[in-house]
Amino acid sequence: MATKQNTVTVDRISAESTFGIDWAEEVRELAHQRNAVILAHNYQLPEIQDVAHHVGDSLGLSRIAAATDADEVIFCGVHFMAETAKILSPDKRVFIPDANAGCSLADTINADQLREWKAEHPGAIVVSYVNTTAEVKALTDVCCTSSNAADVVRSIDPNREILFLPDQFLGAHVRRVTGRDNIHVWLGECHVHADISPRDLVDTVRANEGAELFVHPECGCTTTALWMAESGEIPGETTQILSTGGMLEAAKKTTSERVLVATEIGMLHQLRKANPATEFMPVNPQAACPYMQMITPEKLLDCLRYGRDEVFVDEEIAAVARSAVERMIPIGNPGGGE
Ligand code: SF4
Repeated sequence: MATKQNTVTVDRISAESTFGIDWAEEVRELAHQRNAVILAHNYQLPEIQDVAHHVGDSLGLSRIAAATDADEVIFCGVHFMAETAKILSPDKRVFIPDANAGCSLADTINADQLREWKAEHPGAIVVSYVNTTAEVKALTDVCCTSSNAADVVRSIDPNREILFLPDQFLGAHVRRVTGRDNIHVWLGECHVHADISPRDLVDTVRANEGAELFVHPECGCTTTALWMAESGEIPGETTQILSTGGMLEAAKKTTSERVLVATEIGMLHQLRKANPATEFMPVNPQAACPYMQMITPEKLLDCLRYGRDEVFVDEEIAAVARSAVERMIPIGNPGGGE
């Protein structure tokens, strides 16, 4: 266990020291020449976050991409996120430094599986978390983020069945907070967040009495966190279930000495920058997304030098998927997705 944790830390440090100011200057200069905007998801390597024009969560970044007058969008994240940027910016060229950067959660359901599921529940409303492919979004009635998932579900006629996908932990959270029992939840999960287990949470919380707790709703420990708060084992007022954007806002406001964070460890970089006075500690220090880490400094440079990998979405699919994304924007606080 200790070896794996050290590997993650050492890899990140060596990448930082190898790619210094010259690399960052070249990246920014190439972006300027191409009139490109560089976007980095909160889970990216620290040096990628630091060189990007904007850092944030997936939907928030896609909306920034749509609003910018840049000709090109360089999306440092995983493939479904770059697809979402393309869906919202069909007239811009969108690139991802490595098109093989997938997502184990988005991969749990494809368009054929969703068609079959819909056929089993005719008349049901399909609610998809933004962590899905463009094809799945195109078969969706309304998308949601982790910030507005419950509000999206509440906005639907209580008599209509709902198919909620793809994350089972977020689905269970939504079912619990809305009290609806006519929600069918797809049994997908993100392997990184699922591995932040109830055991990790209980051990870390008990070892850090008095610390605040931020939990992303995709985590395998979400239910345990709520149970510990409800049973009084940890104070309910210092336990929050938050999207990555919500964590950042909460980090800016907290006056706690220590906050325990249950999500992918790349998030800690932004939290520490937002509030250097508080110590942010991972609930599971090994929770690193291997797909996010496929976006390396070398690949970002190659992306800008050689224009690869470009992301394409079929125009008809993009148009229908765009409607599903746009339908959720006015509901609750959509925040930014993962
Ligand atoms: S952390 Fe999980 S949900 Fe996020 S990109 Fe990685 S595999 Fe997908």
